[in-house]
Amino acid sequence: MTPQLFDHDFFYRGAAPTRVVAPHNREDAIQQVGECLREGWVVIARGGGMSYTGGYVLAEDSRPVVMIDMRQLALIDLTTLANGWVVVDAGVTWQQLHEALQPQGLRAVFGGPLSGLRATVGGAISQNAAFWGSGLHGSAAESTLGLEVLLADGTVLRTGVLSRGDAGRSRYFGPDLTSLLVGDCGRFGIKLRIALAVEPLPVAADSASFSFEQPVKLLQSMQSIARRRLAIQQVGFDPLLANVRTRRSSFADDFRTLSRVLRGSGSTLKGLRSIAEISLAGRGFLGDAGFTQHVMCEGLDTETVGSKLAQVRQIVSDLGGREIENTIPKVMMATPFTPLNGILGPNGERWIPVHGLFNVDRAEAGYRAYLDTLEAFEAEIAAQGISSATLFSAVGSATTLMEPMFFWQDELEPLHVDTLEDKVLKRIPRNPSNPTARDQVAKLRHAIMQAWKPLGVGHFQVGRAYPFAASLDEVQQRFYQQLAVTLDPHRQMNPGVLGL
Ligand SMILES: Cc1cc2nc3c(=O)[nH]c(=O)nc-3n(C[C@H](O)[C@H](O)[C@H](O)COP(=O)(O)OP(=O)(O)OC[C@H]3O[C@@H](n4cnc5c(N)ncnc54)[C@H](O)[C@@H]3O)c2cc1C
Repeated sequence: MTPQLFDHDFFYRGAAPTRVVAPHNREDAIQQVGECLREGWVVIARGGGMSYTGGYVLAEDSRPVVMIDMRQLALIDLTTLANGWVVVDAGVTWQQLHEALQPQGLRAVFGGPLSGLRATVGGAISQNAAFWGSGLHGSAAESTLGLEVLLADGTVLRTGVLSRGDAGRSRYFGPDLTSLLVGDCGRFGIKLRIALAVEPLPVAADSASFSFEQPVKLLQSMQSIARRRLAIQQVGFDPLLANVRTRRSSFADDFRTLSRVLRGSGSTLKGLRSIAEISLAGRGFLGDAGFTQHVMCEGLDTETVGSKLAQVRQIVSDLGGREIENTIPKVMMATPFTPLNGILGPNGERWIPVHGLFNVDRAEAGYRAYLDTLEAFEAEIAAQGISSATLFSAVGSATTLMEPMFFWQDELEPLHVDTLEDKVLKRIPRNPSNPTARDQVAKLRHAIMQAWKPLGVGHFQVGRAYPFAASLDEVQQRFYQQLAVTLDPHRQMNPGVLGL
């Protein structure tokens, strides 16, 4: 891999590491990283590099910096399957894990993020990722049963079912350290191996899609289905995202009305605002577009799945939704990890999401706060040609995820070029560098985070984007600071990530 790929992610840019090393296996990693640590280097782990929150992007540090490319740590140990888990090296991708487990009739309970073709298990566990399986089982943390982590003093900490290494142990024997190390973005150490819960592949699966005129009804429907634990995954799109997806992949005609609605409104932003306002007020004019919900159900037999879907349809119908073609969930279930062409908008625009995790009773307020922020930025958004769209999802039974995303014209980074499929690279227009629009998008994301703060919002993928340390109370801050000092007294492990 070319060195210029290591000083940026899909949004953040930092200083180039002094050196990049790619250990061949776990022992090699322990030895190479251990040497760097003893010599006083700063150490940063990088998995698939498929993130956009600055997690592996370091600002200047006066010390030499080594980036550890983890992808050659790629062993999958199936010997513990009978116990209900698999042990994988941190550099294994979710696609590789899926391919290893499928012939055994198994899959990981948390099945990975949508970026799983390239994203690694170590990266996802360090971000506390969510998607496949998350409707029922929550984020990655919920089904991570044990870890093996290389600490800043060169020793290896083993937790949970890996506490005695390959000798095995039940997960709980007093307090378990596993959760503390999930979602740390590599601040507390480098994950070498991870034990993940597995389960038999579902015997039956089916899906259904619906359209609502009002976003609040979409949110209620999602939450009601999640609470009853009917769906393995759910995803929702606002009309603009449905439109983006339609333009990108010419999936379906169901959303074509939206662009007419928006064109008629004179400004894209006003269009979005008025769609939301009118639909929040209950006056539907979206025709075929609307706020769409895609529900995926599984079970031990087709009758169980049928009964779950019947309950889903009842919930939707009680809330005034109507059923539409289920093309989107069908395609998603058939190909869980597609090439990552979604890193750009449909016309080659740069793309960056910002997400929030809401308690169910705050989700509607979260959506309104997002729209208010867009309105406050209307002039800048129009001047820079920025467009936006929003994705919704249920994470477990108690959390609603909301993910606005922004598109603008700008030059591509080497990481984009390295990630896109050739056929997409050939097709898309290339734009010149546009730091003004990029800067505006950064301000907009920040303003959305601020608007969400009073609602008690949480975030996955903290990296250097979300204010984790700043959100803690005094006692919590002291605890985390002391933990960081204990584990890493010389601030050598990805310093600054998590705000620590
Ligand atoms: C198109 C697209 C779709 C996406 N879909 C989803 C989604 O559905 N759900 C979701 O949650 N996220 C999603 N993401 C975000 C991201 O891809 C995932 O969170 C993914 O898990 C990152 O894994 P990675 O291996 O690429 O990690 P990287 O980007 O390489 O690293 C992420 C962070 O983890 C740290 N890290 C990496 N490996 C280790 C290790 N072994 N030990 C310690 N720290 C480590 C890095 O230092 C960094 O802080 C998506 C991104 C894109 C571009």
